[in-house]
Amino acid sequence: MKRILIVDDSETIRNQLRRLLEGKGYEVFEGVDGQNGFEQLRAHKGVNLIICDVNMPNVDGLTMCGKIHLDQDYKSIPILMLTTESSAELKSRGKAAGVTAWITKPFDAERLIAVLQKLIP
Ligand SMILES: [Mg+2]
Repeated sequence: MKRILIVDDSETIRNQLRRLLEGKGYEVFEGVDGQNGFEQLRAHKGVNLIICDVNMPNVDGLTMCGKIHLDQDYKSIPILMLTTESSAELKSRGKAAGVTAWITKPFDAERLIAVLQKLIP
């Protein structure tokens, strides 16, 4: 079973994603901000993919991604940003921080699953 870590400060989004992903047979873990997200990554072995918000308290998503990108243990894990942000500047910052895919909220569930299946077949 593929393991996905959701990192988003919105409980509504986390619940929505959990329902969707568990329905598709993924195992789901949650982090509530960039700091907690990194802790969850360390707490759960074998995370296959991270879905990450940009705007979060404490540590934002791009900062968390940058930290993951510099970590030999985690840098190969694909990261999908799921955010209301869509500026070219943030996307290029994401790319530099190892972000693999970028989907803008509100998101289409089928499209999200299609992207996931491509990233972790
Ligand atoms: Mg947010």
